[in-house]
Amino acid sequence: MNADYFSLPLAEPLATAAGDITEREGFLVGIDAPAPGLGEACPLPGWTESLDECRAALESADGGELDTLPPAARHGVSLALLDGAARDAGLPLYRHFGRDERVESVPVNATVGDAATETAVERVRDSVDAGFPAVKLKVGARPLGTDLDRVRAVRDACPDVELRLDANGAWTRAEAAEAFAALDALDVAYVEQPLPAGDLAGHADLRRHETGVALDEGLYEHGVDAALDAGAADTWILKPMAMGGPDVALEAAVLARGAGIDPVVTTTIDGAVARAAAVHVAAALPGVRACGLATGDLLAADFDPDPAPVESGRARVPQKEGNTGATSPADYA
Ligand SMILES: [Mg+2]
Repeated sequence: MNADYFSLPLAEPLATAAGDITEREGFLVGIDAPAPGLGEACPLPGWTESLDECRAALESADGGELDTLPPAARHGVSLALLDGAARDAGLPLYRHFGRDERVESVPVNATVGDAATETAVERVRDSVDAGFPAVKLKVGARPLGTDLDRVRAVRDACPDVELRLDANGAWTRAEAAEAFAALDALDVAYVEQPLPAGDLAGHADLRRHETGVALDEGLYEHGVDAALDAGAADTWILKPMAMGGPDVALEAAVLARGAGIDPVVTTTIDGAVARAAAVHVAAALPGVRACGLATGDLLAADFDPDPAPVESGRARVPQKEGNTGATSPADYA
């Protein structure tokens, strides 16, 4: 096994638990046996181990200890193994996952971010015109009244688009209750992480509203079993890199569906190798709703060519054998 360091510049700085970052660093993981395969480990502080911990884990991994690896390292190795196994079976990864029909593309949401009202409306209009079935707005960084005005303006401008909000845990219980009461009239599909990650019970309580509750950070803090037991959400935001691999994310998605919870697959702004794998996870789920996989634009440079480009609000599902068709880090040299 070999791990080749990479750095991909972000289009805009990203706030993380370890401060603002301007690049996504990680490793392309190549394995030769049992079959040649390529994976990506792209750690993100606050969601996974650090870059140094990831490097150390990959250096000491021998392949037989997958489940002792921290999430990003495990993602890199498990994806390399899955890539090799799918190629061995002569199938694109999503078919190797068990999907029994060809899937050309999966729907994705556009990310509008925390833009002020006028810009937010403009971006949502552009996204709808570009064919996106859903858009995601950041909330929680501004006073609640301002956020509600933003959402109202977007809804007025685009009555039909599926509207999702992400508060990243910013609201108190009182603010969330006020927000949900207002959002119920605006046909908002769901709010991601309205309350701090620790508060599963608070999320469960918000489910009495029309507006859905999605768990993101809280899912990683507590794990899927605790989230399930608490009945904390209608939707789970599944990030394969933070969960420890495409296989783990798919397993969580199937578990979620069994419990009547909608899975939404997304990235941690990973490189194209991991993003393609996340697209395969989404493609393995029949009827998957729009996923957060249109994240390639958040990188100023990426592995080339893009195996899963976004067109008309859909990510193209790679059809080559394995994940992307590439078998070695040298393919991206
Ligand atoms: Mg989120």
